[in-house]
Amino acid sequence: MYFFLTIILHVLLVMPVLLVCFLRASPIICLLLSNHEKPQRSMLRHLTTKIKATGPIPVAEYMREVLTNPVTGYYVRNNMLGPDGDFITSPEISQIFGELLGVWIVSEWMGAGRPTQLQLVELGPGKGSLASDVLRVFSQLRSVLGGASVSLHLVEVSPALSRLQAQSLTGSRSQEAHAEDEPAYRRGETTGGLPVSWYRRLEDVPTGFSIFLAHEFFDALPIHKFQRTQKGWREVMVDIDPEKPNQLRFVVAPSPTLASSALVQADEGRGHVEVCAEGGVIIQQLARRILEDGGAALIADYGHDGTKTDTFRGFKDHRLHDVLSSPGSADLTADVDFSYLRRMAGGGVACLGPVPQRTFLKNMGIDSRMQVLLRNCSDASTRQQLIASYDVLTNPAKMGERFHFFGLLHPRRLARPPRPEGLKLEKKPSPAPLPVAGFTELSFS
Ligand code: SAH
Repeated sequence: MYFFLTIILHVLLVMPVLLVCFLRASPIICLLLSNHEKPQRSMLRHLTTKIKATGPIPVAEYMREVLTNPVTGYYVRNNMLGPDGDFITSPEISQIFGELLGVWIVSEWMGAGRPTQLQLVELGPGKGSLASDVLRVFSQLRSVLGGASVSLHLVEVSPALSRLQAQSLTGSRSQEAHAEDEPAYRRGETTGGLPVSWYRRLEDVPTGFSIFLAHEFFDALPIHKFQRTQKGWREVMVDIDPEKPNQLRFVVAPSPTLASSALVQADEGRGHVEVCAEGGVIIQQLARRILEDGGAALIADYGHDGTKTDTFRGFKDHRLHDVLSSPGSADLTADVDFSYLRRMAGGGVACLGPVPQRTFLKNMGIDSRMQVLLRNCSDASTRQQLIASYDVLTNPAKMGERFHFFGLLHPRRLARPPRPEGLKLEKKPSPAPLPVAGFTELSFS
């Protein structure tokens, strides 16, 4: 039995049975553009003007414009998450998801030797539900976290979503920062009294021991697409359909581009590949920070280990949507290639996984937490919702095997701790490193 996990599990099991809300209803916040043109139409016009001026654009540029253009980008304008939006994510399905990730964070903070500072950094926090569930666990585990100074740092490109996050995490206790040279664009205090700041880019987050969370973040980053042809690898580009001037189409670049020369591996065996160079840069930044300042990263997303080919797709109203039609009206996404992330993380940092979500959550004790919640819940419809949300999160045919967890850790975390001085002469090996929760099967008997 592992000492620190025992404490945490104990707290989790006896934690007040607080049912936050099982299918978080989506307060639709309609943020209208100041002009009266339909946003998708102005996005299409913006893209066709660009293509007319420069020629066909890489898929990565198309995806970046459609999702994060500062005026008409899909994420910048919308609140797309939840039953009334375009897609729903695990933290929105059940509070248990965020609670178990909260337990993971505390156990990794303990495994790192309980540093006095703990920065929780979330990339792409959506509606702020995951951060809010994690902070609830922190407040339950106040006695374990002791005197550590805890702060929350949110990397969010969307002003609309950052306001929603601020509302949910601080009530009205946050303010926009106006100074140009301020790395954070908003600062505040959570309802539990912790400092919280918002940034546009990871590099703006202060250095220091940090645990990074990225849930359904990497899949939203722009991908390049490459096609194997008889003449070699060629980049897939987005062009205007010559027969229908208001419609876009894919074309293959006639000659190599900088990206097709630099981003396809020499020994690539597939006929078509997607490479998320921006995700690679972010992983390198995370790896460097973890090596220099200590900490860990937990990345959860749908993805594969370097085996899939064409995964680029759109989502609108919880249905698949053609990626090139009405750009800006639907989410665009591509499966995360974990083998690429591992390669980009480099040899210094330790990589764990990917493991299926079902395995990770079961290793984290989701069954025990469910039993406690069910035992304490007498309302039939809430019980039914609890069971249904558990099924969505863990069923292999639903999110259980489609989503994976991938971790980055400081290599020290997996090394055997040195033997105490006095024992050097004994033949006993030094104790094994503490297991990493979620990635290791633990028995709680
Ligand atoms: N993690 C949340 C939301 C996922 S949606 C959840 O699982 O519910 C993707 C999130 O990433 C949104 O908050 C979106 O605004 C943000 N995002 C997308 N691209 C980004 C970028 N380049 N930089 C920072 N945030 C980004």
